[in-house]
Amino acid sequence: MSDLLERLRERGWRLTAQRRVVAEVLDGDHVHLTADEVHARAARRLPEISRATVYNTLGEMVSIGEVIEVATDGRAKRYDPNAHRAHQHLVCAGCGTIRDVHPTGDPLAALPDTERFGFAVSAVEVTYRGLCPDCRSAG
Ligand SMILES: [Zn+2]
Ligand SMILES: [Zn+2]
Repeated sequence: MSDLLERLRERGWRLTAQRRVVAEVLDGDHVHLTADEVHARAARRLPEISRATVYNTLGEMVSIGEVIEVATDGRAKRYDPNAHRAHQHLVCAGCGTIRDVHPTGDPLAALPDTERFGFAVSAVEVTYRGLCPDCRSAG
């Protein structure tokens, strides 16, 4: 589990009913939801929650570093509660399912000095693409 709620509580982040529902919707493993998806799920539990509240809450969780924004497909940003363990993403080209993956070896080290152009390189994002088992059997 990502323990998002616990982390927020430990930080002393004020958990109103609305913020709690947003955090609960986002908590878990391999969770990568768009803001609209978070809003739709939150509204099932708390019908009065507004889209603006959801967007603001997501933005705050990103700014304190407990949630990361992921852009894997050039479409809507996704929100990922797995903010403290470095990982890459495996994306299904059929249904869009995203899994958190942990390549062996240090992907930063995979870039040779001659390809760094004098940059001090500090981060890397890799997206693996393919078809998930469901899409493979459907095809
Ligand atoms: Zn798929
Ligand atoms: Zn992720």
